[in-house]
Amino acid sequence: LSSSRTLWELLVRRAALTPGRPLFLQDDRVLTFGALRTRAERVAAGLYGMGVRPGTVVAWQLPTRIETALLSFALARLGAVQTPVIPFYRDREVGFALRESKAEFFAVPGVWRGFDHTEMARRLGARGVFEAYDDLPDGDPSVLPPPPRDGTAVRWIYWTSGTTSDPKGVLHTDRSLLAGGSCLAHALRPSAHDVGSIAFPYAHIGGPDYTVMLLLYGFPAVLFEQFALPEALETYRRHGVTLAGGSTAFYSMFLAEQRKQPGVPVVPSLRLLAGGGAPKPPELYHAVVREMGVRLTHGYGMTEVPMITMGAPDDTPELLATTEGRPPEGMEIRIVDGEVRLRGEAVCRGYLDPGQTAEAFDEDGFLRTGDLGRLTETGHLVLTGRLKDVIIRKGENISAREIEDLLHRHPAVGDAAVIGLPDAARGELVCAVVEQPPGAEALTLAAVTAFLRAEGLSVHKLPERLEVVDALPRGETLRKVLKYKLRERYAGT
Ligand code: ATP
Ligand code: MG
Repeated sequence: LSSSRTLWELLVRRAALTPGRPLFLQDDRVLTFGALRTRAERVAAGLYGMGVRPGTVVAWQLPTRIETALLSFALARLGAVQTPVIPFYRDREVGFALRESKAEFFAVPGVWRGFDHTEMARRLGARGVFEAYDDLPDGDPSVLPPPPRDGTAVRWIYWTSGTTSDPKGVLHTDRSLLAGGSCLAHALRPSAHDVGSIAFPYAHIGGPDYTVMLLLYGFPAVLFEQFALPEALETYRRHGVTLAGGSTAFYSMFLAEQRKQPGVPVVPSLRLLAGGGAPKPPELYHAVVREMGVRLTHGYGMTEVPMITMGAPDDTPELLATTEGRPPEGMEIRIVDGEVRLRGEAVCRGYLDPGQTAEAFDEDGFLRTGDLGRLTETGHLVLTGRLKDVIIRKGENISAREIEDLLHRHPAVGDAAVIGLPDAARGELVCAVVEQPPGAEALTLAAVTAFLRAEGLSVHKLPERLEVVDALPRGETLRKVLKYKLRERYAGT
């Protein structure tokens, strides 16, 4: 299986091995490996009838459902170029993705969660709009050209979260996605007896990444079109889910459920919580492991390289809490001037904008991630912040991440984001924006700086401004804090 050149080839091989085994479980529906193959082929024929050819750019903005996986695999079967868009995105982001990718077709869910996607698509002047929620294109597979054989052609355009700037269109090939999925499998070490779950948007790069792992190991995953706790716990229990996770925000949500009934496992079958994509406070790691009695492994990934490092089962709790783990075989990490650089099969081919591609890769073909980090003697990666998240005050570089990590230790801090704000005298000043849990004592700047001093933060890094908010602005995909919004809100006020 692991020698498959394309996603479709991997599916064909898996479907031949275990056609009747479930792949996706959703509500009371089951899609087997065999059915994905045969049904996706019919959808591919339907798309072909509409004019989709190998290389045609097709955008889709669909929720996490069996039909979405069918459509995505149908496009992979045809060798089209697909560009998935997160379902919560609205005119600005969707318009951007359609324009930049020059999509010729756009699959939407119609009215979804009260929002009319078809109407938005018209408003944006999208081409080839069709609804693909329950009814998918259909046709006779005998009309189809042979499946693509080349795994190195660009067939996927994913969008970065737009945390630091406008989203970037990231070019992936079947081969880079297959490599990403193997990296994930290498980290989670699943077996055919596992039951996984996809609680994050399938339109995120984690979608195909996770699915490749399911295809390699032949086990199913539960799909959540709308993920909400505590309701989802019932679904987890019913299907006997063993692997759950998402991003850091998920661990907190699980922990909150656990605290309603201390000592009683929320999902008895669960063996591993896994996730990544955002910083994870060590305190949260220890609380989850101690109170939930499950293993937790956290990883580092980005749209450009879905799986970079992840904690391993034999890592010590301390390493799991304080590092992002080690890279799998085939992933080379280099630290240059504090920045993490990567080379390997799972690394994207570049960006839609050739200028961005030229800037992103160094002379040895390593991708500049824009993330700051260091490697321990044991080869574990510690992330210390983002290049663009360094505050420069009076010429001194201050890492926002360092201050945030310390703030997380304060009992009255739920979450924290530290930003630099323009300041005439100092260049930038340090502003801490803090989200407080309900009922926590009110914080003042004096109390916060006293706490940070006591935690050992040097005086020149102390925040000089504190903002307390009910909720930090977050991106929809991984619930990551959008610092540019905070900078917009507080700059010049
Ligand atoms: P943009 O590139 O548009 O500014 P983005 O980088 O946030 O947005 P993503 O590709 O979704 O878009 O996120 C990848 C980034 O998330 C990484 O570069 C890193 O900064 C951060 N990240 C991922 N995993 C972790 C982790 N385990 N710990 C800390 N940060 C992480
Ligand atoms: Mg990025």
